[in-house]
Amino acid sequence: MLENKKISKQEIVITRADLPLSCPINQTWAGHPKIYLDIKEKKKITCPYCGNIYKLID
Ligand SMILES: [Zn+2]
Repeated sequence: MLENKKISKQEIVITRADLPLSCPINQTWAGHPKIYLDIKEKKKITCPYCGNIYKLID
């Protein structure tokens, strides 16, 4: 069983200027390698690695 660590999820609002969306979005190490998230149609996506919630606003 993995360590039941409580991750504080933070909601991050992004705009289309931030696309393509990658997590971690900045230089801060979020505990996982950089991945790209396909947010375009959903407008909201949760990073499967760190649990950050990204919200796309127009
Ligand atoms: Zn992430």
